Amino acid sequence: MSPKTEDTPSIHFLIVPLMAQGHLIPMLDLARLLAGAGTLVTYVTTPVNAAGIRPIIDSTVSSGLPIRFPELRFPATDVGLPDGCENIDLVPSFDLYIPFMKAHSLFQNSLKAFLRDDAAAGSPPPSCIISHNLLAWTTPLASSLGVPRLAFHGNSCFFLVSTLLLQQHRTEIEGAVAEKESFAIPGLPRAIHVTKSQVNWRFLSDPEWLKLIEEAQAAERGSAGVVVNSFEELEPWYFETYRNLTGKKVWPIGPLSLHKEDVETKAARGKASAVDKEHVLEWLNGQATGSVLLVSFGSVSRNSFRQLVELGSGLEAAGRWPFIWVVKEAAPDSGWPEVEEWVAEFERRVGERGLVIKGWAPQAMILSHSAVGGFMTHCGWNSTLEAIAVGVPVATWPHFADQFLNEKLAVEVLKMGVEVGVEEPTAYAMEMGSGEVKVGREMVEKAVVRLMDDGEEGKERRARARQLGRLAAAAMAEGGSSSENLNNIICYISENDKKRET
Ligand code: UDP
Repeated sequence: MSPKTEDTPSIHFLIVPLMAQGHLIPMLDLARLLAGAGTLVTYVTTPVNAAGIRPIIDSTVSSGLPIRFPELRFPATDVGLPDGCENIDLVPSFDLYIPFMKAHSLFQNSLKAFLRDDAAAGSPPPSCIISHNLLAWTTPLASSLGVPRLAFHGNSCFFLVSTLLLQQHRTEIEGAVAEKESFAIPGLPRAIHVTKSQVNWRFLSDPEWLKLIEEAQAAERGSAGVVVNSFEELEPWYFETYRNLTGKKVWPIGPLSLHKEDVETKAARGKASAVDKEHVLEWLNGQATGSVLLVSFGSVSRNSFRQLVELGSGLEAAGRWPFIWVVKEAAPDSGWPEVEEWVAEFERRVGERGLVIKGWAPQAMILSHSAVGGFMTHCGWNSTLEAIAVGVPVATWPHFADQFLNEKLAVEVLKMGVEVGVEEPTAYAMEMGSGEVKVGREMVEKAVVRLMDDGEEGKERRARARQLGRLAAAAMAEGGSSSENLNNIICYISENDKKRET
């Protein structure tokens, strides 16, 4: 970066994401939006993560958008992780998640060295750090630079409020509620029933995870504000309550997936697609409007072989609707030949009715196609919000983390989803060989029929989803709530910069 000139944007956002697709993707959307608004953005990445989005980096740089992508060393090996383990989807087992978070903490040394060299090269200093909320160390880093830190949440505000309320009432719930018993989350405006395992009770009670969560919350208290990938009109009570509970400025700025992108950029979100995007578009163009079911479970979740067989058999049995099924477990690099063989046989049986994508899919591109009429999702927040953004109803199949609460939001609060019927979290992430089956083929078939059906219930759900899609588009359009919030953030940081200079 050359020294500051008259053409250099006057505000500089330093964006520090959590190294997981579900956070890298929306934070990159945010980076592009801020740069599009004329500010300088530095989006911190690592060699492995940068390689995954190389086409987007190259096209961003050649378009002249003022974003830089420094590729900093991620200290995976320093904490005993395999070399190159720079993204949560590469972490081999659940017990390595804490070391992975420790590597994020050590990552601050790489960032500090970069900032020193960058300053020495005459680059403008950051005016603000926007970092993932779990990266607590960015609050003292921002203080040492004399700039505000904004905490980025890639969760629904419904999840944020529910989690705070559960924490507040932890002791009374701990003693009063049995392990498998369902209870209403205290303090919500309607009764939302959950079990302890659905709301990550073990994280709220495990000393190491609790420390991480409490450090993140302390860092949020020390932040100038909070940025959430959601929109005010979607969950107004929850935003108001989160502001009251935390006393913070809270800016919803989403759905970030609606940030205007050409189809190339949309198709390359997160990683290069495992399938030719033209082939997918051609297949979708051949289907009737609203007839296609998309089935995809995000970047981290994996299902056991037996579970995949049940899912595929349910899709087959549901009969009428064409579908796209994203099967990460059958990707050539997943090292699971039995699954590959079974999937090949499945593809022969379903023929043209099904398109199976073995690996990374251009999800946002698919979801925004008019042929798609339903989405069976694991309820990761990005996937849920991407469906809301384009007005597509969902069949909810949560696996773990915030996903059960997102299911409650979609089904019980927004009424744009049908539950597949999962009651317990899946063994975390990569435990594909576990043999676990949570959902039988009949449950899959039933959920697909309810979701795609054109009866009264289906029509009402579809209409509600469409209405939410319209609200989402309005929030992101010029003058809309999310768009205004982004402008307000820029103004706030600009004012702060001016105060610092005087
Ligand atoms: N995604 C994608 N292709 C895939 C799987 C996921 O583009 O094959 C994107 C998806 O559109 C979303 C993100 O990756 O933006 C996944 O985030 P989410 O919060 O839904 O789930 P996670 O991966 O964090 O569990």
